[in-house]
Amino acid sequence: MSEVYDLIVIGAGPAGYTAALYASRADLKVLVLEGWQPGGQLTTTTVVENYPGFERGIDGNQLMREMKKQAARFGTEIKSQNVTGVDFSGRPFKIHAGGEEYQSKTVIIATGAKPRKLGIESEERLWSKGVSACATCDGFFFRGKVVAVMGGGDSAMEEAHFLTKFATKVYLIHRREGFRASPIMIDRVKANEKIEILLNKTVEEITGEAHVTGLRLKDTQTGEISELPLDGVFLAIGHIPATELFKNQIELDAMGYVLQTEYTMTSVAGVFAAGDCTDSRYRQAVTSAGSGCRAAIDAERWLEAQE
Ligand code: NAP
Repeated sequence: MSEVYDLIVIGAGPAGYTAALYASRADLKVLVLEGWQPGGQLTTTTVVENYPGFERGIDGNQLMREMKKQAARFGTEIKSQNVTGVDFSGRPFKIHAGGEEYQSKTVIIATGAKPRKLGIESEERLWSKGVSACATCDGFFFRGKVVAVMGGGDSAMEEAHFLTKFATKVYLIHRREGFRASPIMIDRVKANEKIEILLNKTVEEITGEAHVTGLRLKDTQTGEISELPLDGVFLAIGHIPATELFKNQIELDAMGYVLQTEYTMTSVAGVFAAGDCTDSRYRQAVTSAGSGCRAAIDAERWLEAQE
């Protein structure tokens, strides 16, 4: 019989490491299973300028290394294993990773979300070199520049509007005629003189070598190809929460985000969730870290109440 942890954290972004830090400091026996992308989405960005405490910003990878070390300092055990299955039907909960079965009295799901991508080679090559999926994080770097926002939902409207604070011109590019976004958001974008809307356009290629220099667009109705010179491309075509593993174990909403019942608790008592896998709205490192803290406190109190 393997040992039973007090808490297993699945996922190692700001939410996961913060949860581990708090739980370890509360003297719980904690294991973090890091999964497919240790450090989470911050490891794909460059400088993080909006995480409090770093006047000049901090490299995303470095920030995550520091969070990991801080959690480890208080005794968190960390394994670089991908979770392949969970069983929350009985206690202790069972988690399969790296060919092993782990057992725990509580679990925090902090598996994050991935921005949906266009699926073209150039977006990977130019990621963080002018291609971003977070205007709040990276908009500041485009002061005085020309950018495009891809998408026709509320995020695209919000990001296009936000980016006009910095950019001289913002193209909102959508693949069809109709928008998914709410009328009020569309009206705000239409009223903004810095935004030009391009409809029925798909991206053939993001051009540039060291950084983004433009877009090659295809008109979906005429097939015409056009070039659009610009400095930055913001993807706002949705996010995909990394919750596939849990769909038969806990309740998810229609978009796949983890539903929370009491505070950070999921539909299964003793299983908690934090970070972007629960959050389609804020998606910031600092809000994720905050929710990791909340989940750890909830897990600790729930454990105490069981004893
Ligand atoms: P969304 O509503 O799913 O919209 C995604 C947009 O991206 C759609 O216009 C979609 O086009 C387009 N798209 C998807 N895949 C694409 C691809 N491969 N290539 C090109 N375009 C693609 O996502 P969201 O805007 O992130 O919003 C998610 C949820 O958060 C929504 O419920 C939204 O209301 C909410 N939200 C609310 C606020 C707010 O109230 N302030 C702000 C942001 C988000 P099609 O329409 O053609 O499918």
